[in-house]
Amino acid sequence: MEAPVEAPVAAVAAPSGLKRHRPASTAAEIPSDALLSSRRLSNKWKANSCWVDAALTLWETMQRWRLISHDQSSELREPPLQLPAVERSDCTLKLGPGAKLIFASNLGQVLCEWWRLRVGEIAATERELDVAALTEQLMAARDAVRLAVLQRTLNSALHKELGEEMEKFGSAHRALEVFTQSAHASFLRAGSTPKCAALQCGKLLRSPSLTGLPTAITLSAAELTDAEGDCFAALQAKVNTPGKQGKRQKKRACPHCNLDSHFLEQPHTSVVADGAAPTLLVLDLPKEPPYPAAALPYDLRPSAEPRPLYIGGTVQGSYRLVGVLMYATRYHFFADVIDPRERRWLRYDGRVAGGVGQPTMAGGVGQPTMHGKPGEPRRYYYPTLAVYVMDSQVYF
Ligand SMILES: [Zn+2]
Repeated sequence: MEAPVEAPVAAVAAPSGLKRHRPASTAAEIPSDALLSSRRLSNKWKANSCWVDAALTLWETMQRWRLISHDQSSELREPPLQLPAVERSDCTLKLGPGAKLIFASNLGQVLCEWWRLRVGEIAATERELDVAALTEQLMAARDAVRLAVLQRTLNSALHKELGEEMEKFGSAHRALEVFTQSAHASFLRAGSTPKCAALQCGKLLRSPSLTGLPTAITLSAAELTDAEGDCFAALQAKVNTPGKQGKRQKKRACPHCNLDSHFLEQPHTSVVADGAAPTLLVLDLPKEPPYPAAALPYDLRPSAEPRPLYIGGTVQGSYRLVGVLMYATRYHFFADVIDPRERRWLRYDGRVAGGVGQPTMAGGVGQPTMHGKPGEPRRYYYPTLAVYVMDSQVYF
């Protein structure tokens, strides 16, 4: 299927930090329409697969940008982020005592295979690409990833149940977390620890820990409302401001000062723990639509300058939005991403245009929108996850 391709617009979302070091493409360097549409080839939707498709698109995009920010080609044959390790899970069959089934999830290996097709194969074959065959291969690789995620996360992963789960709708947030947890050192992670509010004490209830923190930072509707919908501002408030919830809680005895005391949640992040600012930043936005929609669109500022991230009064780096997970409640996901080679927003929806990424309006990215397959009713979609990458050129 030939994707409709607009005239390339080099200026769209061209990062100012990179511009100083890498001149914008000249006319001769602008890829042809045929090359662009083969680069945009991706998974077709099958049996509720959108939660895996969207997570794969975001996972790929964050790594392409990470490579670019480290001055490497975005077409490495292997993904640069640490892959999930092989994980075995035992489950007992109902057939009889001692009957055990052992599943080994090879998620890392199948993610690598999907990357090889989507990144390496397309770059290597370019115009001679067999579109139908490659789309089939990509979908088979996607199904292998889906199976491996289910094997990893289902507790009672019996064959029959797995077969049923392969048809069910799932969580793109959870899939992305499973893809990235092994590479957690590349992500900003944030947690909090209760701190005694007594003036003469002020000690933490326990030492801050990063163990078990997800690679995405969750922002609540209340935190977003406080930041007037600006999710980047909400993140900065969250990681810099002690929580307010402690004031509403009952006093309890502090193990340090023995006083009956209030406890405030004291934020801490991986920046302090690891000593270096992370390359990637993932914000997990509420699963329910922003309400009222018109009054609180999440201000993701897709085409504006990268945002500086302040933690503890210091700029840690400047972060650029490169991917948004869009969601219609309990219905469908798709991903809007910027491919660093094209520097423009593309929409990957496996139910539209045979899975080929379609150029989308930069100004509308991240804002709630009506979207649908031609000929079907359009639905209300809103951003439910945002991916940022450090714009290292600006500061280093
Ligand atoms: Zn105390």
